[in-house]
Amino acid sequence: MMDLAKQTSENKKSNHFKSILLYIIISFLMLGCGSKKLKTYTFPNPKNTSNHPINYQEKKTYQIDGVFADNLFDGARLNNFTKENDTTFIVTILPENEPINSSPYYAFRIWSKEIKQLTLQLNYPTAKHRYYPKLSLDGKHWKPIDSAYFKLIDSGKNALLTISVDTGKLWIAAQEINTSSDAKNWAKEVATHKDVRYKTIGKSVLNRDLIALDIYNGEVKNKELIVILSRQHPPEVTGYFAMQAFVEEILKNNRLASDFRKKYRILVFPMLNPDGVDLGHWRHNVGGIDLNRDWAYYRQTEVKTVVNAIVDTANKSKNKVILGLDFHSTQQDLYYTFTDDMHPTIYPFKDYWLQGIDDALPTYTPDDRPYAVGDPISKAWFFLQFNAESITYEVGDETAREFIKLKAEVAAREMMKLLVLK
Ligand SMILES: [Zn+2]
Repeated sequence: MMDLAKQTSENKKSNHFKSILLYIIISFLMLGCGSKKLKTYTFPNPKNTSNHPINYQEKKTYQIDGVFADNLFDGARLNNFTKENDTTFIVTILPENEPINSSPYYAFRIWSKEIKQLTLQLNYPTAKHRYYPKLSLDGKHWKPIDSAYFKLIDSGKNALLTISVDTGKLWIAAQEINTSSDAKNWAKEVATHKDVRYKTIGKSVLNRDLIALDIYNGEVKNKELIVILSRQHPPEVTGYFAMQAFVEEILKNNRLASDFRKKYRILVFPMLNPDGVDLGHWRHNVGGIDLNRDWAYYRQTEVKTVVNAIVDTANKSKNKVILGLDFHSTQQDLYYTFTDDMHPTIYPFKDYWLQGIDDALPTYTPDDRPYAVGDPISKAWFFLQFNAESITYEVGDETAREFIKLKAEVAAREMMKLLVLK
């Protein structure tokens, strides 16, 4: 009995020693190839990102006295359509769930048997008007409604539109509609460039493709990596426009862009929340969660898939992530950056970059908004996970579309100049 007990204890000791040795070897190997395991974080302002139920809008065509309205297309949001009097109709717009930012997104079509002039009241029972209406006859070409036919009511809470309708469908939306299939079509078009690879990295909760563009020229090993994100928040289409112009500038055939693609690898995730976009959500995914609060524990499929894709890609090819750019929209153009006491790998890239944009655009001054790590957002995650520089590139909801493009092209060129010479 004594001997057996002694032997068992020695076996245990030996197994313990073996596992320590194994741990040291694995750690050494990981260190050797610069592998970075995906880490989780407790943020100063933690968020509960477990699923929170959402309400699905009823998909239908409303029909009242020869006037029709519908939400039967991707990116639509119309929760009710009722008649107030002979010429006034109420358009009710509700969020996917609450609490939620007051960013009521709407998109619907309207038509009638006979030519008519109608007044539409955009009613947001739980929020305040944000997006200036855009009109389209085909769902592709848009222009803002003439200001003579638009006014805010109820102290800016709701809005009135005057429109002419006939048998052709008139599209009315908070922003130009850009669905998950539009993003795929754009990405596939971009991927006809020889330096771009189109990838499906996984599926959303409702089985839509989560897509990526992998951009580089030549040997991929050991290149430093830049990551670009867009559409965590469904209606933030102006940020998406900036992302598109930014990526297209990187793919131009000039010395700067081609040197940049030789030196760096760029991973682009153009559509992080395809379900939320196609369901016409104000902000969340189908888990009912703000994806840009889930970068601590990755409870939502979309964030989990993207962070794994970034970490695995970087590890596989020994790519060091040096910069993360996340494109969003808000009331005005600005840049959420880090406070000056935070020193990411390529510090002080941000100051030089914004100065370059400032110098290149005489009528514009970048609005720098430095923040410390607080909420579990992608910007903070790039810094914590990789010690990377990271900036949230915010575009105003109503910033002139031509200027969005011009500024994004300038921003891409200024980034490339700094990094090519690094
Ligand atoms: Zn956003």
